[in-house]
Amino acid sequence: MSRISQTSVGNFKVTALRDGELSLPSEVLMNLSDEQSQRIKADENSNLATSNVNAYLIQIEGKNLLIDSGCRDLFGPTCGFLKEALKEAGLEPNDITDIFFTHLHPDHVAGAIDAEGSAVFKNASFKVTDVEYNFWTSDTFTDSEVNGNDWAGLARTALSAYKDRTETISLGKDIIPGVTSVSIPGHTPGHSGFRVDDGSETLIQMGDILHVPNLQLENPSISTVFDVDSEAALKSRKDILDMVSTDRLLCTSGHMIQPKFGYVEKSGGSFRIAG
Ligand SMILES: [Zn+2]
Repeated sequence: MSRISQTSVGNFKVTALRDGELSLPSEVLMNLSDEQSQRIKADENSNLATSNVNAYLIQIEGKNLLIDSGCRDLFGPTCGFLKEALKEAGLEPNDITDIFFTHLHPDHVAGAIDAEGSAVFKNASFKVTDVEYNFWTSDTFTDSEVNGNDWAGLARTALSAYKDRTETISLGKDIIPGVTSVSIPGHTPGHSGFRVDDGSETLIQMGDILHVPNLQLENPSISTVFDVDSEAALKSRKDILDMVSTDRLLCTSGHMIQPKFGYVEKSGGSFRIAG
């Protein structure tokens, strides 16, 4: 099955690269109703808690911008296929000119380094928001938290592999001309989506506001234990879903399943995505 889905935004070619898929255990989901917990337990194929890990490729005039890099082998045998997806899009790692990280969680940054901690993308700049950089390089992590020493250690290994090519950018500023970071605080402090604009066309990537889209679109109050600030992340999720549905903007998301690109429709307090 193909690992890529493509669309265009003006002159930009945008490709969703499916690094893998997995099903999240109900223990990592918060704010589930009793009825939803029962449904997940009864859902033998785990469709409700299904997630995809997506990276993105944005191409224009000699630029091959990669957004996020998948999770390598850290999340089991169904994930870590970024290079295969890139190949399907016609590229090798050395063709990537720039990488932007929506945030420095393992499923977004681990694929940028190999098991020895060396850079996979030898010709790429490593771009991340300044807030995100400052968060993961601060000294305040413990062993017991989800967002603790383990994940900070991985983020720092990646930063050190690209230390001569790291560029911090302010939230809301251009990643490359026409591709802009979008601040979506909560999941991590410097968590960012991005938007691509060309002429009258726009695409918004909503970062990690959804981890289990089948559940969280129906009930946006469902959160995961991966959020650094779950209240802020919940507000961000509702705000951005309201915005893209009101403004009828083409959108996608880091853990979107299918369709990869679509329009969000609101009905009462729930949302759905139509391709
Ligand atoms: Zn993620």
